[in-house]
Amino acid sequence: MPIVLGLLIAFGIVYLFTRKGAATRNCRWRKDALGDKGSLRKYRCAACGAEAFTASKGPPDTCKKALS
Ligand SMILES: [Zn+2]
Repeated sequence: MPIVLGLLIAFGIVYLFTRKGAATRNCRWRKDALGDKGSLRKYRCAACGAEAFTASKGPPDTCKKALS
């Protein structure tokens, strides 16, 4: 049954990507009020040291380490 085999492989790939995405969400964002720029709020990740600015309420939902 090749179709079932293909589905299993597809699920396996999705599972791997989901786990990889989850690993980058371990960031613990700490507000850094001293670094605020106007309406942008500065957050610093206590886990990986990444810094990010957000215009919306709350910390970033993704880690910016991969971008730097
Ligand atoms: Zn981080």
